[in-house]
Order: sequence, then C-alpha cells, then structure tokens
Amino acid sequence: MGRSESSDGVFARRAPASAADLDYQLMRVPAGGKLSGTILSHDLVCARVHYYQRRTTPHTDGECEACEHKTRLEWKGWVAVWSPQTRVIGILELTKRAMIPLEKWFDEHRTLRGAVVVVARIGRDINGKLFSTIHPGSIDRDLLPKSPNIEQLLARMWRRKGWEHIAPEPKQIIRMDATEGGVG
Ligand SMILES: [Zn+2]
Repeated sequence: MGRSESSDGVFARRAPASAADLDYQLMRVPAGGKLSGTILSHDLVCARVHYYQRRTTPHTDGECEACEHKTRLEWKGWVAVWSPQTRVIGILELTKRAMIPLEKWFDEHRTLRGAVVVVARIGRDINGKLFSTIHPGSIDRDLLPKSPNIEQLLARMWRRKGWEHIAPEPKQIIRMDATEGGVG
C-alpha cells in the first residue's frame, strides 16, 4: 500500500495534443452582426450547396437527393481567417455577393492571404444579405499561421461516400461546429 494510486500517471504539465488543437469553427455572421479577421487562405474555396434536411449539404452532379426534392441551390464560399487578438482560426462562410470583393482583391493582388476582411449581415434575418469589405493587413504574410485545408475540413463535415480521397480518415477527429442557419 506504499504507492498512492492517484498520483501515478495522473498529472502532467501539459495536456497532450488532441483534437482540440485542430478544432476550427465554421463562422457564420449573425443577423445584424459583423465578423472580421486576417485571411490565411491563398484563395477562396467555393461550392454549390443546398440547405436540406436541416443541414448544409453539397450539391453533386448526377444524382443529388436535394435537387430531386427541389431544394434551392446556391453558391457558398469559405476562407480561413485568423484573429490577432484571440489567435483563433475560423472558417468564414460567405455568400456569392460577399465573395465579390475578395475575388476582385485576388485579381489585383494574386493572393488573399494577409488581407483583412470584414463581413456584415444587414437586418434581423439570419439569412439576411451579407456585405464584405477587404483591406490591406498589417501583419507580414510569412508570420501568419498556416491556413487549414478548407476542402478537407468541409469534406469531413459533410461526410459523403466517394469523398474518402478528399477527407482521409483523420487520426484525430477534426470537429467543426455546425453553426449553420436554416432557410426560412
Ligand atoms: Zn443538388
């Protein structure tokens, strides 16, 4: 009975690396709200999606269950953003309209990385119009954190058959908060 059961292998100075390290939040601008951040992505990632069965689901050519149920189809775009204050990396969701300033910026500067984006949703509707502005950032691009792989994160979130090559089974589970809003 000499050895205390509780102290052996119980305490550590640091929690080991875990899924929490790879936890990126999907950021959707709330009604009447505003989100901003320094862009980590080189360029936008876009996809046509449906809001179907209470979740966002990608449109797939050929057989698409959501299309068969005549669900509205729309383009969404995503960029990884970083907050210098909180050091949090998030995946910012944009509508087609809100992507336009970023597309123009990319055409002019050949990358989005390092620029600061501000996205605002006007009005009280959670699906209200989204407006974005983009301006030069003050942090050296090389000093910014690495951008997460958005395609892979979305593919994991959407978990579809045939997408295993996009989203290989992760060693650690990457969780994204599904803060998706409904239509109507
Ligand atoms: Zn579809």
